[in-house]
Amino acid sequence: MHSTIALSATAQQYLDLEEKYGAHNYHPLPVVLNRGEGVFLYDVDGKRYYDFLSGYSAVNQGHCHPKIIASLIEQAQKLTLTSRAFHSNLLGEYEKYITAYFGYDKVLPMNTGVEAVETAIKLSRKWAYQIKGIEENKAKIIVCEGNFHGRTTGVISFSNDTAAVKNFGPYMPGYVAIPFNDTAALEKSFQDKNVAAFLFEPIQGEAGVVVPDEGYYKKIRTLCTEYNVLMVADEIQSGLARTGHMLACDYEDVRADILILGKALSGGVLPVSAVLCDDEIMMTIKPGEHGSTYGGNPLSCKVAITALQVLKDEKLTENAAAMGELLRSELRKLNSPFIETVRGRGLLNAIVIKHTNTEAAWDLCLALKENGLLAKPTHGDKIRFAPPLVINKEQILDCVDIIAKSLKTLEV
Ligand code: PLP
Repeated sequence: MHSTIALSATAQQYLDLEEKYGAHNYHPLPVVLNRGEGVFLYDVDGKRYYDFLSGYSAVNQGHCHPKIIASLIEQAQKLTLTSRAFHSNLLGEYEKYITAYFGYDKVLPMNTGVEAVETAIKLSRKWAYQIKGIEENKAKIIVCEGNFHGRTTGVISFSNDTAAVKNFGPYMPGYVAIPFNDTAALEKSFQDKNVAAFLFEPIQGEAGVVVPDEGYYKKIRTLCTEYNVLMVADEIQSGLARTGHMLACDYEDVRADILILGKALSGGVLPVSAVLCDDEIMMTIKPGEHGSTYGGNPLSCKVAITALQVLKDEKLTENAAAMGELLRSELRKLNSPFIETVRGRGLLNAIVIKHTNTEAAWDLCLALKENGLLAKPTHGDKIRFAPPLVINKEQILDCVDIIAKSLKTLEV
């Protein structure tokens, strides 16, 4: 049982509603929020917090970014959904904008992250059968142990997280898991002629911000090209300026064959995801073979253009790089006996907690909350520190003070 803390009667009332009427498929921190602005969240009692999760990196541009919200409102008053049965005046504009932004021939718009992952898998398989010449139903996709790509029955089929998988079978075949950050294992897996694609997170987010060795992306690129295997980068969490680069793969100047984006593509306003690739791959999918009612809707198109523009206009890549450096160096300076590791790139960071109490990471998050900072443990002992990318130096230093003060509560 996790320890908990007393809440105001107002907050408790909201928790009780969720407890009684909602599925218990999450274990949230006991805080009830009703407002967000920039790097801050506010609870129903008016208390202000630094947001150190950013909706799992969906709110890179900061909460309720005025330009993104203005686009949302303006477009919501005109047209929100046509379905893809008809054209809209915004879909083509958005497609032109995002393909130029990332340098791909085409985009396929979807909504949630996992739908984009499913789309990338379908594209990889179609390409394997129609272009690479793999015998139908024989295509394999190589994935990494410790991956997190979402929650559909297809995608959990290649997860090795017991909680995500157990009792949800039968699982879909056609996936082979190898260790993350292991290029020898990757090359070995490519000896199988039926391999269509390598699907990976450039930095494993859910696993606790696991950053691979220098040269990993370059080696993946080389091997994928050599063996005619698609390099499929899931940048749903690592992309869009989060790591101090527009894409995490940009760190090594590497271009994936299929790029998967989500989360911050709307700045935390709507579920908007996208798959980008060149014609050779994208044109294998024909009308009627894939789609989504909401995918590419005019509201999402408008919001996504603005969300992407904000990343550039506000130089959030550069800010994430600088603020990330500062955050990690200040955290290391704390020299806390309870921090085993500080790791990350840009503003996608995590600390690994070292403590005799296995609940210490959760307890620390409760203390952080009391002191005005919201973060959540992942896989027990890791805590992600990933604030909105609009955070400034003074705020980072303030947050490090909060973290230092909260760490003291772990002393017994
Ligand atoms: N891929 C990665 C790398 C993610 O981090 C996530 C969500 O955390 C997903 C896919 C799934 O996205 P969604 O929850 O929007 O389906």
